[in-house]
Amino acid sequence: MKTTFTAADEEFRAKVREFFEVDYPADIKVKLARGESLSKQDYQRSEQAMASRGWSAPGWPEEYGGPGWSLVQRYIFDEELERAGAANVVPMGLLYLGPVLYTFGNEEQKSRWLDDILQGRTFWAQGYSEPNSGSDLASLQCKARRDGDQYIVTGEKIWTSYAQHADWIFCLVRTDPDSTRHDGISFLCIDMQSPGVQVHPIISIDGKHHVNRVSFDEVPVPIGNRVGEEGKGWHYSTYLLSHERTSYAHVGEKKQQLKRLRELAESAPGPCGSMLDDPMFAARLGRAEIDVLTLEYTTLRVLASVAGGKAPGDESSILKIMATEAAQAISTLYLELAGQYGVACFEDAVTPQWALDVGFPEYATSGPARYFYDRSQSIYGGTNEIQRNLIAKRVLGL
Ligand SMILES: Cc1cc2nc3c(=O)[nH]c(=O)nc-3n(C[C@H](O)[C@H](O)[C@H](O)COP(=O)(O)OP(=O)(O)OC[C@H]3O[C@@H](n4cnc5c(N)ncnc54)[C@H](O)[C@@H]3O)c2cc1C
Repeated sequence: MKTTFTAADEEFRAKVREFFEVDYPADIKVKLARGESLSKQDYQRSEQAMASRGWSAPGWPEEYGGPGWSLVQRYIFDEELERAGAANVVPMGLLYLGPVLYTFGNEEQKSRWLDDILQGRTFWAQGYSEPNSGSDLASLQCKARRDGDQYIVTGEKIWTSYAQHADWIFCLVRTDPDSTRHDGISFLCIDMQSPGVQVHPIISIDGKHHVNRVSFDEVPVPIGNRVGEEGKGWHYSTYLLSHERTSYAHVGEKKQQLKRLRELAESAPGPCGSMLDDPMFAARLGRAEIDVLTLEYTTLRVLASVAGGKAPGDESSILKIMATEAAQAISTLYLELAGQYGVACFEDAVTPQWALDVGFPEYATSGPARYFYDRSQSIYGGTNEIQRNLIAKRVLGL
């Protein structure tokens, strides 16, 4: 695998860097640096800024609006986005649903939804998990019964990220009431404004509103909103999940965080000298740096197989474990660095500005909230235990 960049790659990097430094909304970068939650408008402004250059969906084929970049260019783009501290795209539309629609959707669905996703005009949520179906997703109970030219959907989804902002939700629903497992599940796109849809907020341990419970009470959904064949939704959902698991790497962001962590640790007071003089802290920081390097190479491997025309394969499970464990290790180091300042700073209720005004170090305002939220990284997208089961079965053949 080639790991050096050509002059043309470096030229491309400079163009992307300039965009994120000059043209990308600066206030969004400031909010993110302080650990503040972004609004729906912020997410959409961010995606629209990238879409204005045709850069919102680097992985999409050109015929659907992708920029036609090489694997290396895509990698450079991600690295520069995260280096600048810009917002990653909301994955549900651009990373998860988009590939399902252009692969399995009909022409009407493609022309109806793809461009709005590409241009950052619609916000999508993902309705897979239910109160009693998470890891064992095939046991899901949300039902859709046929009634003329529509389905009537009744049931519940839970842990639905950013459903409070969503215009649409794609859901797995059981269309065959006699089926119990993978067969008889269909993939439906539901307008969040439909009568009978309700969003119930769940506030997570970091004090923020990331997730929700979404209830469906006799919600009418046109049959034309079903992607692919009735009863074959499981097939489309597993295709989507492999794309989902490759989206967690965020190597550029991790490299930036580690660089900053090393700089901060050099001046932050530790038990004897600076935090970097603490051999335990320094060893864990070094370990995290090595882990991110190995993550970088694994990401390139997965991207290479995708660029070769394959769906991300079983390597995506390996990537998911490595990426999420590295993220947790990094936010643990930030929490340690924040030390006694961290305690007061982890809720949205305690605004970052307040903490800065009373003289807390800037890094303490986002570190603890991030630490708490990052615990969920090894749960969402299929828990890391489940990923290990997949590796055991499919990679190691155990
Ligand atoms: C922050 C956050 C955001 C999320 N966003 C979304 C979203 O937008 N859309 C969506 O559909 N879902 C979302 N989820 C849900 C997520 O996908 C599920 O939480 C996850 O799949 C685990 O399911 P569960 O919570 O029901 O836990 P369970 O499946 O009940 O698992 C509980 C524990 O048992 C372990 N376990 C279960 N089965 C096995 C097994 N066979 N072998 C070994 N260990 C096992 C698990 O690893 C876990 O530790 C989100 C979750 C979180 C935390």
